[in-house]
Amino acid sequence: MTSGNGVAIIGAGIVGTALAFRLAQRGEAVTLFDAGAPGELGPSRGNAGHIAASDIFPLSHPGIAFEALGMLAKSDGPLKIDPRYLPTLAPWLATFLRTGSGKHFEAATRAISILCDGTVAATERLFADAGIPDRFRKVPALYVYDSPASLDAARAGWGRKAAAGHASTFVEQNRLRELEPALSHAFAGGVLSHHWGQVSDPKAVVDGLFEAARGHGAVFRQARVEEITPSEAGVVVRAAGRDQTFSRVVVAAGIRSGDFAARLGEKLPVTAEGGYNVTYPSPFIAVNHPLVFADHGMVSTSLRPGLRIGGWAEYAGPDAPFRPAYHDRIARIAKRFFPRLDPRDEIRWAGKRPSMPDSTPVLSRSIVDPRLFYATGHGHYGLTWSARTAEIMTALMDGDEAAAAPFSIRRFNR
Ligand SMILES: Cc1cc2nc3c(=O)[nH]c(=O)nc-3n(C[C@H](O)[C@H](O)[C@H](O)COP(=O)(O)OP(=O)(O)OC[C@H]3O[C@@H](n4cnc5c(N)ncnc54)[C@H](O)[C@@H]3O)c2cc1C
Repeated sequence: MTSGNGVAIIGAGIVGTALAFRLAQRGEAVTLFDAGAPGELGPSRGNAGHIAASDIFPLSHPGIAFEALGMLAKSDGPLKIDPRYLPTLAPWLATFLRTGSGKHFEAATRAISILCDGTVAATERLFADAGIPDRFRKVPALYVYDSPASLDAARAGWGRKAAAGHASTFVEQNRLRELEPALSHAFAGGVLSHHWGQVSDPKAVVDGLFEAARGHGAVFRQARVEEITPSEAGVVVRAAGRDQTFSRVVVAAGIRSGDFAARLGEKLPVTAEGGYNVTYPSPFIAVNHPLVFADHGMVSTSLRPGLRIGGWAEYAGPDAPFRPAYHDRIARIAKRFFPRLDPRDEIRWAGKRPSMPDSTPVLSRSIVDPRLFYATGHGHYGLTWSARTAEIMTALMDGDEAAAAPFSIRRFNR
């Protein structure tokens, strides 16, 4: 059952390149496939660059349905659902809502915590081993809140994070101004979350990991993979009409991963969740911390390409075009949050996150064939969890099933 040659990874986003590096580093023959250049086509290149190590809760939580209705009602609200996509999204939404309470919420929090707890250290290790240590820095995140009431409502969650080892400090309005002089004075207060970090440029991270993987012999094929077929001789990958046989194949194809699973006969309910941002290359201002605008579903970061601000969650399907109007709104909000921002030469970007209904990625051996694996569904945290993902996947591929048990595809295939 294990003939064929080496490991194929389908998808050269942050997840695929981090894993490619770790496998190549220990001497495996790795072939990385992507329809585009590494990191180019998915969200891995243009994200906000946060290593959000203290974000241990799933996105769904008690009261989410009510909150979602409020968000949908506002044109500047962070949640958008295309009504035409609603029937397709319905089963995903049902699982999402169920994740928001009771044992489902606790199970998702436990699984996410496994990724978050060691992620800063794992990222430092990964970047050091790949020769790019200068592309990461440890720095607390600053969450800012619009009103004392919203800050107060967040206290319980911060308390629970602190109890789990993710310390934070509450910050009064005056101190906010000292910490972030460029920020509007409208925010009521904030929280410094100490277990956090940021990269210098998400695209440069993908490039660095890719080059490091190549330095250890990984091969890149720029081609769209059409089919994966398990056979006696190995697992056959068909790309651009050419077949290659591998001993093992990992699907790390972002929002397209579910298509491969469906064709192989297993359920992997990853959906495309759009996010929008604007980068200001000469912003005149900078922020000292990765910022989270807690009441707006937005974040901001000073990155090497400039000041980046954006976020939001749009459910409209994998092939839906992005909406320029959303960028217009984000640009307007940016000017409100940073009154001295110079918008010259702004760069607008949008990407589709591969999102699971329980906010927990699938790091799993396939049920259909033991030589097939999945590393996908990282939603809002693909960069944050990439280093831990590579560690867990290599353990799983070595036969340590327990290491990846909380992330198994079996939870959707009972
Ligand atoms: C606005 C925004 C901000 C974000 N901010 C952050 C952040 O601050 N921190 C964080 O941790 N995360 C953040 N994220 C999320 C993060 O970007 C994603 O979780 C991550 O990029 C997913 O990586 P991936 O490798 O799984 O998928 P992708 O980047 O989508 O990579 C998958 C690759 O598979 C390839 N592929 C698909 N199908 C095929 C095929 N048939 N043949 C060949 N190749 C194929 C695609 O071309 C693609 O390159 C953000 C996302 C958005 C949209």
